[in-house]
Amino acid sequence: MQHLSNQLRRDNKSIGFVPTMGALHEGHLSLIRRASKENDMVVVSIFVNPLQFGPSEDFNKYPRDTRGDSEKLKKEGIGILFMPEASDMYPEGFSTQVEVEGISNKLCGKFRPGHFRGVATVVTKLFNIIKPHRAYFGQKDFEQAVIIKRSVKDLNMDIDIIVCPIVREKDGLAISSRNLYLNPEERKAATVIYGCLMETTNLIKSGIIDKARIKRFMEERLSGEPLVTEIQYASAYDPETLDALPEVKQEVLLAVALKIGKTRLIDNVLLKI
Ligand code: AMP
Repeated sequence: MQHLSNQLRRDNKSIGFVPTMGALHEGHLSLIRRASKENDMVVVSIFVNPLQFGPSEDFNKYPRDTRGDSEKLKKEGIGILFMPEASDMYPEGFSTQVEVEGISNKLCGKFRPGHFRGVATVVTKLFNIIKPHRAYFGQKDFEQAVIIKRSVKDLNMDIDIIVCPIVREKDGLAISSRNLYLNPEERKAATVIYGCLMETTNLIKSGIIDKARIKRFMEERLSGEPLVTEIQYASAYDPETLDALPEVKQEVLLAVALKIGKTRLIDNVLLKI
């Protein structure tokens, strides 16, 4: 892969990179299409990264569909699919990790210790292998995008990070590989998340900017759905620091993480007021 990237760079070809964990869906494809438009060559990686899963998380049962994924990429006309094995990425003796301090312990990081260290490490490694000019991430994983931008800036990586809008199902549910875990009742119940985000948007637009009220409204709306088993966070945050805001200012991130049954789902909207 490094030889290929060196050759592309020697030929003055721009490289756009889309890192994924596979089980490709329309969300991934939207990043890939954007990368295709803006670069001479697109590299898609598929790697279910063991480093970013906690011991009680779903690493083993995470959906994998190599054949379906390759078909989808072929249809999109994507040039390079990079699919390393864990033993290639983490051979014996591997001992360097990338830790973005502070932000990695907020929101999802609070509930998934070590997760963002695993993400920042694998993305840094993939950047060094693929040597992209631009890399594409989804707003769906808002905290991840903030962390990657931070690490790129802090470590002087010469890569543009482009964050793309969330692709949703017709009923508003953010598309995610983990939606495959939901049974039909749970799938229906999952629409509570987008409903909550939209109603909270309207609440803020109507002039309610007090964070405590917004948080209460969101939590009550979400817990009204009986299949929601745990609300990890649901509130208004500063989109840069990810801290809770006492009062909503010009830009606000409404973000939610919860479990429906055993499935953990996240979503967010970014509001400009
Ligand atoms: P994953 O395979 O879940 O690690 O996701 C790979 C990339 O696709 C990440 O940058 C995600 O934020 C992005 N992504 C996942 N779901 C969506 C979606 N519904 N809309 C836009 N981007 C997404």
